[in-house]
Amino acid sequence: MKKIIIAIDGFSSCGKSTMAKDLAKEIGYIYIDSGAMYRAVTLYCIESGLFASNGQINEEGLKEKMQDIHITFQLNPETQRPMTYLNGINVEDKIRTLEVSSRVSPVAALSFVRKALVEQQQAMGKEKGIVMDGRDIGTAVFPNAELKIFVTASASIRAQRRYEELKAKGQEASFEEILHNVEERDRIDQSREVSPLRKADDAILLDNSHLTIAQQKEWLQNEFEKATHA
Ligand code: C5P
Repeated sequence: MKKIIIAIDGFSSCGKSTMAKDLAKEIGYIYIDSGAMYRAVTLYCIESGLFASNGQINEEGLKEKMQDIHITFQLNPETQRPMTYLNGINVEDKIRTLEVSSRVSPVAALSFVRKALVEQQQAMGKEKGIVMDGRDIGTAVFPNAELKIFVTASASIRAQRRYEELKAKGQEASFEEILHNVEERDRIDQSREVSPLRKADDAILLDNSHLTIAQQKEWLQNEFEKATHA
């Protein structure tokens, strides 16, 4: 069967990565979480003191350091889940904190950051057989992807899901704070100048507010079959 590129975009915390990861495993494709790459750059900025106390990023400092930031993915042999590595160190948990979530969107709005990461993402998709999720995969990274999905759900449902996810990991979280973060990231992601979050004209819209993970999985599998048999 021919290998294709599957681009899954959408709002924050709407379950894109869960569906993308499950599908990739099912069909034997590589899964790439592009958001993890923006999060890893943000973590690098935090750890290297590139944020001023008022939250402002030292753009010139980051520009100089971009070539020293190496992001890779490795499968965890026990869970078979992809883990994000920053300069050889596993940062999978560290990039999921609310601190990183609240600082990532301004970092992701910087054009030199996007240019560097988009080039790496395009290189990863050269051989096709890839599922990538993010905000600009169907519009900027792989505009010719054979299957494009745009996922959405109401902000309060997304915040509730993220709240439960953090609680399950034993992380301190307030629902109000998470809802604010989700809404704020949506606002910045949609209004930035470079590759703003938007549905590609040829993407299929999926509102999963009231779908179970199993229903969503079945829907996506069906779309994959249609795309590969077209
Ligand atoms: O997908 P996730 O919520 O982990 O992404 C974190 C942030 O990274 C998003 O809020 C967005 O600002 C940025 N991002 C992006 N382009 C992508 C993926 C993520 O700008 N392709």
